[in-house]
Amino acid sequence: MSTADHEGVDHQIGRALQELRPRLVGDLTEPGDPSYDEARAVWNGMIDLRPRAVVRAGAVADIDPVLDTARATGLALAVRGGGHNIAGHGTVAGGLVLDLGGLRGVQVDVKHQLVTVEPGATLADVDRATAGHGLAVALGVISQTGVAGLTLGGGVGWLTRSNGLTLDNLVSAEVVTATGEHLHASEQENPELFWGLRGGGGNFGVVSSFTFRARRLPGPVLGGNFFYRPGRWKEALSAFGRWASGLPEEMNSIVSFIVLPPDFEMGAEPWMVLGFAWAGEDHQPGLALIEQLRAAAPPDEEEVGPTDWVQWQSAMDSLFPKGSRGYWKNVSFSRLDEEVIDVLVGFASEVTWSGTGIDIHHMEGAFGQMPEDATAFPNRSAKYWLNVYGFWQDAAEDERLSDFARRAYALMQPFAEHGQYVNFLGAEIGHDLTEAARQAYGPVTYDRLVALKNRYDPHNLFRLNHNIVPAPA
Ligand code: FAD
Repeated sequence: MSTADHEGVDHQIGRALQELRPRLVGDLTEPGDPSYDEARAVWNGMIDLRPRAVVRAGAVADIDPVLDTARATGLALAVRGGGHNIAGHGTVAGGLVLDLGGLRGVQVDVKHQLVTVEPGATLADVDRATAGHGLAVALGVISQTGVAGLTLGGGVGWLTRSNGLTLDNLVSAEVVTATGEHLHASEQENPELFWGLRGGGGNFGVVSSFTFRARRLPGPVLGGNFFYRPGRWKEALSAFGRWASGLPEEMNSIVSFIVLPPDFEMGAEPWMVLGFAWAGEDHQPGLALIEQLRAAAPPDEEEVGPTDWVQWQSAMDSLFPKGSRGYWKNVSFSRLDEEVIDVLVGFASEVTWSGTGIDIHHMEGAFGQMPEDATAFPNRSAKYWLNVYGFWQDAAEDERLSDFARRAYALMQPFAEHGQYVNFLGAEIGHDLTEAARQAYGPVTYDRLVALKNRYDPHNLFRLNHNIVPAPA
């Protein structure tokens, strides 16, 4: 294309954006505007991209004109909910960002235990709205995360064993497709689209509303943490593995290896933190299970007791401030024998404050009871899901700390089961994202997702995600 052609295209895009502006309830920000840098920023500070324009939606009605403009101009479209995607899918260089983060309404239907959530709501918005009614939706563990991206990819947290993933609790969604159709998706209506939305990321349209099933969770909830010093990790992890076998599904647990920030007053050494949340109404059976674990591997420090759910859900927020640089990888596995424990403890001993950490999510329970083909989420049979992450502030550390996650991932490969959780995947610069998506979902689910993509987004308008590439016949 000649310079004159480029200028012509740029002029047309500029005009299309000017025409879009008055159609919006929200605002449109371009380079040079005072709010541009704030508008373009996503959670991961390593993703420093300059979109052609960012639309901060002021109403769900803003979705249609933005899709019209993306189609008309050919600008690459990024859809953003909470902006927490580590791979940076909520933004795009030179393209158009539809930021739904201002739409944070949550409605609770107490009688039917249903919660309807706007696409920019954070986990905190939902927890705060439901807690007063003695209800909770199964979500993730850091409260500023967006419900939208969390749900479309999976949603692992403190209620995974008792209630499954966030997407397992999705009852219906309102979707605006690539062609501007407004569809209701549920088990009864557009069931194949509903299947694909639950795990297939944002590949099929913009979800303008999510309705979830909530569980009764009368406060306070029984929760706690056992803390172990490095010399105790093998013994404690082994005891955890025995304890975790056959646990009732009300007992949710996550094991973390982490250096706690100074405000926790736990010193500068790394800890193994065995966290648990009992989702049962009666605390006694939960306390008895915790006592069994205490007897098997007495913790060096502990905090156990009734706790406010909203506080519990945001207890770790300060570890993960917006603008941190982030990269992570995940592995599903089921063995927790001596050989695997040696490998885990080997790389866990490298974790540093504001650097790296490791979470082992205990799955099974309601998560594992979901048939493998009921949703597009890969792998329901793994007992554990390992998330190795690096979150740091200094750009000079990018290579070293990303490499920590890559090495840990490689060391776990002999024990890895199929599937990758797309929400726990960082940006693989220079890698083929489609191949990454195929590996993540596995061939059967991936091919089914391609068929859905052919039907709802044959021109791949929604491609800033772990992309399912359409392959029309
Ligand atoms: P965004 O970056 O806004 O969006 C993520 C993806 O979803 C993008 O591809 C985007 O295009 C698409 N998308 C967003 N909104 C819509 C919409 N309305 N319609 C269609 N597509 C849309 N995951 C867990 O499972 N459990 C956790 O406990 C957890 N904790 C986390 C803590 C931190 C600090 C971070 C950074 C991430 C965490 N995650 C967790 C991962 C999280 O699930 C993903 O990062 C997820 O993508 C975040 O969703 P978002 O809406 O904030 O992200």
